[in-house]
Amino acid sequence: MKIAKQFRWEGAHRLPNHKGNCRNLHGHSYKMTIELKGMLNEEGMVVDFADLKALINPLIEAWDHATLVAEGDEDLINVLNTLGSKYFVLPYNSTSENLCQFVIDFIIKDGYSFLIKNSISEIRVLIRETDTCYAELERSVILSEEEIPNSAYSVVNI
Ligand SMILES: [Zn+2]
Repeated sequence: MKIAKQFRWEGAHRLPNHKGNCRNLHGHSYKMTIELKGMLNEEGMVVDFADLKALINPLIEAWDHATLVAEGDEDLINVLNTLGSKYFVLPYNSTSENLCQFVIDFIIKDGYSFLIKNSISEIRVLIRETDTCYAELERSVILSEEEIPNSAYSVVNI
């Protein structure tokens, strides 16, 4: 069984080495769908939507009305510091593809106990920058037989 929840935020970004328009600072009304696959629990749920919202909300609060900056884009970071403007540094360019990667890594790291508790076997993240463009990433979450705390999950790109 799969469930999905949608999130949205307003954000600015740029791709500093892009040859086209994306090198300019600009904004998007981002829309994100997070889909989780797992078994139904005794309440007839894969997960409680409120628990998923609570897990993802810190990220949305950090990104909403912020500029997503690539690590090393010192020119932009200096400007944002001068303006006292909210920003969030990513370890790579702020493409939709990389944002999907970041969100899945965030869920695996900060949502580890949430994934275990709900026996989630698959995560899919879809991020839409515009009405016509999106990126999507899926990962399997496999519980090992050893059940070793903090290392019971291995993550496989599919
Ligand atoms: Zn853009």
